[in-house]
Amino acid sequence: MAVLIGPGGVGKGTIAQRLVRANDHLWLSRSWTTRPPRASERGDEYVFVDAPTFERAIDEGQFLEWARFHDHLYGTPLPNAPAGHDVLLEIEVQGAEQVRRRYPDAVVILITPPSDADLEGRLRARGDADEHVQKRLSSAPHEVTRGQELADYVVVNDDLERVTGEILSILETRRQLRRSPSSKD
Ligand code: 5GP
Repeated sequence: MAVLIGPGGVGKGTIAQRLVRANDHLWLSRSWTTRPPRASERGDEYVFVDAPTFERAIDEGQFLEWARFHDHLYGTPLPNAPAGHDVLLEIEVQGAEQVRRRYPDAVVILITPPSDADLEGRLRARGDADEHVQKRLSSAPHEVTRGQELADYVVVNDDLERVTGEILSILETRRQLRRSPSSKD
């Protein structure tokens, strides 16, 4: 299992999409959320549900992890990836802590912005309300600090092509290690 973390707006979603397009072994989980869709979203980015539906799914044990982030609930359903696939998650840091406890072998990769100004620019470009931009910027330092403690790798999103290549080679190395006869995994 591979987990991408990093502040909202850093580009995790775009990177995740590119990773699964480039690597047939990767299977991207689709999260549930109680957040309403953004105007720019097509509707398949998440399973968009209301809070009672989400809470019922928690009670029924349907989530691998879930967390509250800025007034909304987000959760990863128990994955049903086809055999031979590695599951890829794109989540915030509280969720990654739960994944780490449940799957100690999961590789956690922190994506950081090249600068604070770059992050703010990306958040504004998504067209979110100013209040949302401010909230996400205010949680960015925690996502990065806690993320640095948790992550196996830190990559700077300075160039999409380069970052995607770097993560693909991290994942390929892990995959080969798991397959090698000397691996204890
Ligand atoms: P956004 O509202 O910008 O789509 O997402 C807000 C944050 O929630 C992002 O950091 C995103 O990675 C994270 N997130 C998305 N899906 C999940 C999930 O299933 N679980 C957790 N814990 N966080 C998620």
